Amino acid sequence: MRFDAATLAPLRRHLMKRGLTLATILAEILAGKDKQAALDALGLRDKPGLRPEERVRLALDQLEARRAMIDAGDDRFGRCDVCGVDLGLAALGELPWADRCAAHASA
Ligand SMILES: [Zn+2]
Repeated sequence: MRFDAATLAPLRRHLMKRGLTLATILAEILAGKDKQAALDALGLRDKPGLRPEERVRLALDQLEARRAMIDAGDDRFGRCDVCGVDLGLAALGELPWADRCAAHASA
């Protein structure tokens, strides 16, 4: 494991907090509210033809996958899924759910 427990704990808390935010937004979308601007503000990946609720569910899946990696001591946490480059602790502090480097962010 590249990170010790004291390093991972705040990252995990940050992840869980984001999950709560996304779950709340998902509920609001399903209740018929327009949350497009909120999703843009959160920096959620978008694809043409993706419905807002699908966009949130993708983000939640991404979060859950990263949380599972933390809990499993999976060395892929904090690395780009495509090229494996280390995303760096500073970036992970901001975006612990990150799973792509800048070069592969839109892949
Ligand atoms: Zn990459």
